[in-house]
Amino acid sequence: MNDRAQDGTPHGEPAADLVARLRGTFRTGRTKPLAWRVDQLQRLRALLTENQADLAAALRADLGKSEAEARRTDVDFVVREIDHTLAHLADWLRPEPAPVPDALGGATARTQYDPLGVVLVIAPWNYPVQLLLTPLAGALAAGNAVVAKPSELAPHTSAVLARLLPAYLDPAAVAVVEGGVPETTALLAQRFDHVFYTGNAAVGRVVMRAAAEHLTPVTLELGGKSPVFVDGDVDLATVAERLVAGKFLNAGQTCVAPDYVLAEPAAAAALADALAAAVEARYGADPAASPHYGRIVNERHFDRLTGLLGSGRTAVGGRHDRATRYLAPTVLAGVAPDSPVMQEEIFGPILPIVEVADVDAAIAFVNDREKPLALYVFSGSADVRRRFADETSSGAIGYGLPLAHLTVPDLPFGGVGESGMGSYHGRYSIEAFSHRKAVLEEPAA
Ligand code: NAD
Repeated sequence: MNDRAQDGTPHGEPAADLVARLRGTFRTGRTKPLAWRVDQLQRLRALLTENQADLAAALRADLGKSEAEARRTDVDFVVREIDHTLAHLADWLRPEPAPVPDALGGATARTQYDPLGVVLVIAPWNYPVQLLLTPLAGALAAGNAVVAKPSELAPHTSAVLARLLPAYLDPAAVAVVEGGVPETTALLAQRFDHVFYTGNAAVGRVVMRAAAEHLTPVTLELGGKSPVFVDGDVDLATVAERLVAGKFLNAGQTCVAPDYVLAEPAAAAALADALAAAVEARYGADPAASPHYGRIVNERHFDRLTGLLGSGRTAVGGRHDRATRYLAPTVLAGVAPDSPVMQEEIFGPILPIVEVADVDAAIAFVNDREKPLALYVFSGSADVRRRFADETSSGAIGYGLPLAHLTVPDLPFGGVGESGMGSYHGRYSIEAFSHRKAVLEEPAA
């Protein structure tokens, strides 16, 4: 990191030269053969399996993640994605025939996936391995050259990846640029063939504006407030257990974490008690001592989160310690819709419960706000579940289990509206990082 130049590239290579160098590689055709793609994916897999200890140590230093959580949500996640891609890539890339109109007689038509060229991947700090390497794997599988920009807010992980990626992957086609705003700004001034950004919507706008200068398409994986509706007819102990597992993973710093709960008054009161029991069952009487509970990434976010604690009655948790950036798993009850905690994505271990009159009011509540990245519904009624699917818009909908949809490799992962545009994972990454070219072939005379 020390030899990073002001212009945002390692070893003093200006951003323009770096992109030109990778584009030169792409033009030779080196990244296009299936064999090169498979080899790069296998090397990326080896990077993950051979350096688990270093990656886990970095994730612990940056986010207090336990080794088990580091493996499950960062390292193994990407390994599974790579394995799924390796198993299906040849099939996904196969040209798809298209029927031709009668007027075209003996012609045939098909689509073929073309790599885009040089892709920029910008990652955030919360799952700093998963969210850099999953898009990287997709971009390589699609046959592109890639500049990978880890988040400066997870500096240990950034440093490990900056060391390992050039050692394992083809340095002529893959580069890592560490750094923050100045370095990313220098990169964004270049012409890429696609920019894939994960992070907050304010920076998403910066990225899209910069990309517009070059008419470069973007994928924006953003966040927002993902609501939960809990109906009165479900087993609240089970609901609480699943909500606690989804909400307090990585200390709530998960883009698809349940942000807040909507429930009718009777269910809301019973749920608060059930959540208290579930927090204790998962993290013990003192979550600060639990090896499975993470820490807030930095003091700025810690101060932001503790500033939200007054938004309701503390039903669970509330304890915090700035020196260790510990904030207990916290549930706030009786939260008013206009309170501070309901204004922005929480992105931390605070779960507000907002009372609503009925299902209609819950649906209206969701529709009155920005389209979320995920929406979770716990209800025994098929009609209620269907109504949420049909009457609201969100990146994904999960019935009965938060977060799990993103582990299904054949589901597209992405947002809609303020929660993002485009999607990836599995074959959707091939869609994101390829151009689907139309081919028409008429026999030559
Ligand atoms: P962050 O601060 O690490 O920023 C993300 C990236 O943007 C970093 O690489 C950073 O260097 C870069 N960046 C920051 N400011 C910039 C600027 N002015 N110009 C150019 N680049 C800049 O991460 P964050 O934004 O705090 O991440 C949290 C947000 O990301 C939340 O909203 C969360 O919901 C969302 N998120 C979404 C997903 C998803 O898959 N949809 C996943 C994780 C996080």
